[in-house]
This record gives sequence, structure tokens and C-alpha cells, in this order.
Amino acid sequence: MEPTRRDFLKIGAVGGAAAAVFGFDLQPAFAQLRALKIGRANETRSTCPYCSVSCGVIIYTIGDRAKNVTPQVVHVEGDPDHPINRGTLCPKGSSLQQEILNDRRLLKPQVRRPGATDWEDISWDQAIDEIAQRVKKTRDDTFIEKDAQGRRVNRLESIAWAGGCTDTNEFNYLVVKTMRALGVVQIENQARV
Ligand code: SF4
Repeated sequence: MEPTRRDFLKIGAVGGAAAAVFGFDLQPAFAQLRALKIGRANETRSTCPYCSVSCGVIIYTIGDRAKNVTPQVVHVEGDPDHPINRGTLCPKGSSLQQEILNDRRLLKPQVRRPGATDWEDISWDQAIDEIAQRVKKTRDDTFIEKDAQGRRVNRLESIAWAGGCTDTNEFNYLVVKTMRALGVVQIENQARV
């Protein structure tokens, strides 16, 4: 006879009671079950992108090293070794897996042309070319060499830069060098706001 769900629950309850009566410690068994969930996964350390607190996270993926297999994110949790959050995450950070695995996530650059009502997918090469053309034109048209008193200032007030909390030190170093070389004075980062 096939056991019903009720029979199964009864057996579980009796087993649990027996374990308690005879002093079996089930904690190692439960711990083993939890470990198996991410046992074969690869760990990648990253930063929660949602706010300027910049909490550290660990992203678990399976399939990274197998041939012809697309890596799959299976779990995201706080990084206990990270000095900012020490393993904790707020509700937004705790839902990070839903942002990574989301069919509404944009995977290509998009542009909405002047007068258009819809966004258009473009390639990364096209996006970089168009951004470069606009930066050059804006700088050529609006660069300020001297202020109202005739003092040389060489600055560009028509372009600003806002970075994000996931930008690395090295990336920020290059950004500041590039922006300063263009004459940009408004440089800010979300992690400082
Ligand atoms: S986990 Fe919460 S507090 Fe931490 S960076 Fe993400 S959104 Fe900000």
C-alpha cells in the first residue's frame, strides 16, 4: 500500500520525538542538507548595486566550468567577510537574485531618438561611438577657456559624471583622470551621496 501524505507526516513526527527522547542530535543532518544547496556552486564576490551603502554579496552559480553549459545563478547572500555589512542584507539586497534572473532585465544599450516614442536597441560599439561623438560636439560647443574676469579656467560645465557604488577604485581613478582631462568639474558618485 502506498503511504499517504498523512502517514508520512506521522512517521516524521514519531521519528522526531524518538530522536528527542533517545538524545539523537539532528543538527548535523540539517546542516548537511543546507550545505548541499550550494555545495557544487562557485562563489563570486560582488557588491549590491541598489544603494550607496554598497553591501558585499556572494553570488553562487553552477555550470561555470562545464563545457557548453550556461552558468546559472542559484543563490545570492550577504558576504560575512565584507567590512560594510558583515553578511547582512536589507530586503532589497536579499532579493538581488530576482534582479539577476529577470526576463525584463535590459541586456543591450538602448536609445530614444529625438521625437521618437520608443526605445531602440543598439550595439555596444554603436553606443560608444554615439556617446563619443556627442561628448566631442558638446565640449567643442561649450568649453569655457576664460571666466568673466578674463582669468583662464579651461572648464566644461555642460557635462557631469555620476558613478555608482559598484564602480571599483581602478575604474574611478580612470574616470576622474578622463573627466578632468576633458575639463569636467561636476564629478560625483552614488556611494558618497
Ligand atoms: S543590501 Fe540594502 S543597504 Fe545594502 S547596498 Fe543593497 S540596498 Fe543598500
